[in-house]
Parts: sequence; structure tokens; C-alpha cells
Amino acid sequence: MLQRLKELEAEVRKKIDDADSLEVLQSIKQEMLGRKGQVTAILRALGDVPSEKRPLVGKKANELRDLIEKLLYEKKQSLALKAQEERWDRERIDVTLPGTPFLVGQKHPLTLILDEIKEIFCGLGFQVAEGPEIEYDYYNFEALNMPKDHPARDMQDSFYINSNVLLRTHTSPVQVRTMEKKVPALPVRIIAPGKVYRRDDDATHSPMFHQVEGLAIDERISLADLKGTLLLFAREMFGEEKQIRLRPSFFPFTEPSAEVDVSCIICNGKGCRVCGQTGWLEILGAGMVHPRVLEMSGYNPEKVTGYAFGMGVERIAMLKYGIDDLRLFFTNDLRMLRQFG
Ligand SMILES: [Zn+2]
Repeated sequence: MLQRLKELEAEVRKKIDDADSLEVLQSIKQEMLGRKGQVTAILRALGDVPSEKRPLVGKKANELRDLIEKLLYEKKQSLALKAQEERWDRERIDVTLPGTPFLVGQKHPLTLILDEIKEIFCGLGFQVAEGPEIEYDYYNFEALNMPKDHPARDMQDSFYINSNVLLRTHTSPVQVRTMEKKVPALPVRIIAPGKVYRRDDDATHSPMFHQVEGLAIDERISLADLKGTLLLFAREMFGEEKQIRLRPSFFPFTEPSAEVDVSCIICNGKGCRVCGQTGWLEILGAGMVHPRVLEMSGYNPEKVTGYAFGMGVERIAMLKYGIDDLRLFFTNDLRMLRQFG
């Protein structure tokens, strides 16, 4: 009987050792310690063992039962641990995997151009000034030398809110407001970027568009200062080799006035389809501030002079990026907008 117990122990050790699941362990337990189990049978048969051997066999049989229970418990623990490790392995987070992409916005091409314009002029000592988009007739026209019956008002069909208030048709009112505020602190050097509104709507005009106007006022400012400033601007914006030319023109708030052209960005002055074979592209209007405007703003035109210029941001962007329809800026077509930024 003792021999049989030893064999059983060896057998059960091996079985438990080989077991690879909780189900197998359960069946081993049943086979050994269940109601019809082999160890159970030995314990039941103790009565048949001769009385002098019975205590030893009983002890060994009980020890084997305890041993089997202990081995089963340990194996169960180790299987559970192994299962957990496998699960951790399976569900491990790989921090080197690429993340879920999310959409990042980018700057609108007009904002890019505006930023560039600001950077160029701020580098020359200009400050950015802003003003209201809903403006008094006085600031939009009258203070700029355009009284109520002035013919130049026809050039700018406007959105009136009432007879005295309108959506500004240019950023020039910001200049007037700045001159009012800054008198007599000189020098004045500002650029006024912002939205303006006119009743136009076609491939080259939009009812809302962007302007940047510049104003410099000081003692002894001349047309040469204006030309030098604009030449530097044109070269920073369109390239080092660019030239500019000034053509006489008319604005009510400057005298003399000029349209300013830059040598064609496509053919560089040789003449092509874009520049209509002239070699030049118009980029802005400019001039020396009219003495009456200086006077209305509280300056003595005998003592101070100034220059002013104004450009359409869309125009600059269309030339720089080769865009032929202004409406593309405002239709929010991502196929177009994604090409910038
Ligand atoms: Zn050209």
C-alpha cells in the first residue's frame, strides 16, 4: 500500500506539472480526491490494512492528499499569473505607434500676405493702427478732402447705414483718426490694415476686401522718402531685383498723387501676357498728403509734410501667388486654401 502511495505521488506530480489549464487541474483533483478518486479509495480502504501498519499508511495517505491539494493550488496560481502576463502582452500599448491624426488649421493666404506686409513696414518703424469698420461720413470722406458733393465719392459706391454712417470704403479714416490723436507728436508712422466695403462684385472686385494704408508725417518728408519706402516694400515682397515706377494720378487726399507699378513678377519687365506686354503691374496708389488734409487734422502744412499710400491686400496676394480670381479667397474651397500655410 505504501508503494502504491509513492507511485501515485509520482504520477500526480507529473500530471499537475504538465497541466496547462484550470480544466485539467479540476479533472486531476476529481481523479485523485473526488468521491471515486484514487487517494479517496485508499483512505476508505484503511480498514482493510493490518492494524500495526494502519497508522503509518493513514498518515502517508493523508500527507499525499494534502500534498495534492497544495500542488493543485500552486499550479492554479502559476497558471493564473501566466494568463495575466499573456493578457498584458497582448494588450500592451505600443507608444511608438503613430497617433490618431487631428486636423490643424492654417493661415488664410490673405492673412499670410497681411502678416508679411506688417513685418516689412514694422521693420521700417511703422506701427499698426486700427479703426472701426462702421464709420462716420466725416472720417470716410469729408476729412479726406471729399465734401458731400465731391465727384470722387462716385468712385466708391458705398454701403450706407444712414445718411451719416457707412461701412468704410477704405482704411484712410484710420489715418485721420490717428492724426487727430497724435497731434502734435511727430513723427507719425502708421500702417492701417483692415476690411473695407464697396458695392462691387466680379472676378477682380469683392464687396468686402482688405486694404493696408500707410501714413508718414514729419518735418522734411519728401516724395523721395515715399519712393524709397515703396521700392523697399516691393523688393521685400516680390524679390530683390524688382523696380518700381510712379505714374501721375489723382486722389483727393494727396497732392501730387501717383499709381505705383512694380516690374512684372512673371517676365521681370520684358513684357508678357500677365502684364499686357508692358512689363509693369500696378500694385498701389500713393502720394504726398494734401495740405488741406494736414490742416484739417491740426497740422501746419507750412511746417510738416507727409506721404500716404494704400494697397489692396487681395491684389498683392493674387500677384504673388498667381491667383486669377479674387472670389477664390472668399469661397472657402479647401482645395485652394490647403495650398498655403
Ligand atoms: Zn510680364
